[in-house]
Amino acid sequence: MITRLWHGWTTTQNAQAYEDLLRSSMPLSLILESAVSCPYCGHVSVEVMPTDACVYFYECARCRALLRPKPGDCCVFCSYGSVKCPPEQEARACCASAVGGRHA
Ligand SMILES: [Zn+2]
Repeated sequence: MITRLWHGWTTTQNAQAYEDLLRSSMPLSLILESAVSCPYCGHVSVEVMPTDACVYFYECARCRALLRPKPGDCCVFCSYGSVKCPPEQEARACCASAVGGRHA
């Protein structure tokens, strides 16, 4: 992967250092799976959350209801998931208003 790109004009050692740098800039302790509970039919589905975007619309796999975040929540995971979305876990603002998003 990265080592391959660097092949030819740097040492493997430097490539490793660069990869470490990349890794250290990425959050490692985030939980990326959240069990989303449908408020309409109660169906629970474990979904993998994107780290760089908010999921605003989520279709229930069972009843096909389109879930949207509750007022004040930034995404469906904050409203219906067992785990808050990655931006919330990092306590950084993701989209519009991420402050105070909690389960009602
Ligand atoms: Zn449902």
